[in-house]
Amino acid sequence: MRKILIIEDETAIADLERDYLELSGFGVQIENSGDKGLVRALQEEFDLIILDLMLPGLDGFEICRKIREKKNLPIIMVSAKKDDIDKIRGLGLGADDYMTKPFSPSELVARVKAHLARYERLVNSNVQENDIVEVRGIKIDKTARRVWIDGEEKNFTTKEFDLLTFLAQNPNHVFTKEELFKEIWDMESIGDIATVTVHIKKIREKIEKQSSKPQYIETIWGVGYRFKM
Ligand code: CA
Repeated sequence: MRKILIIEDETAIADLERDYLELSGFGVQIENSGDKGLVRALQEEFDLIILDLMLPGLDGFEICRKIREKKNLPIIMVSAKKDDIDKIRGLGLGADDYMTKPFSPSELVARVKAHLARYERLVNSNVQENDIVEVRGIKIDKTARRVWIDGEEKNFTTKEFDLLTFLAQNPNHVFTKEELFKEIWDMESIGDIATVTVHIKKIREKIEKQSSKPQYIETIWGVGYRFKM
């Protein structure tokens, strides 16, 4: 279920918005003050925020700016004053849409859906751009050539990266050192198959909790290595 946060001090308006959004299948949370709203917006995961401009505590301008510093999600700003809407539009605070109160709840629902669909398209197109390999706690971004182990980024040399990626993309397959050397180093004259052993050791130091008891790259004695799925 997609989650929406409504930051609105007028309870009747907030409740009306929530009722319509819930009828459309959204999960809705309401905060009535600006500072509490900002804290929730930053600490919790929401798919979209409906933000009133005039609020006790912290106003909508400030909240919008602070959310934008940290998060990328659609923000719809609402205000009772048409003049304010024109003003905030001009400020370029980064809100995705502006609505003047009173508006029809179904209009709000339509805009919420449109913005969610647009953000999903953006997110999906980013995923397609970067080629990601994920195996248990290891995430390899092949496009950016970056690696995270349990969410923590680790640095790999070019050959370490190539070797790890090759193994992770071919799990449960035993490769001999000769095969790995040919695959990763190919015709480069420097090094020999002992290089493979050295690189496996370096990779294990970065990805395994205990290098002596590897959970990812297994040694198959007398044959080579296998990446466990
Ligand atoms: Ca208000």
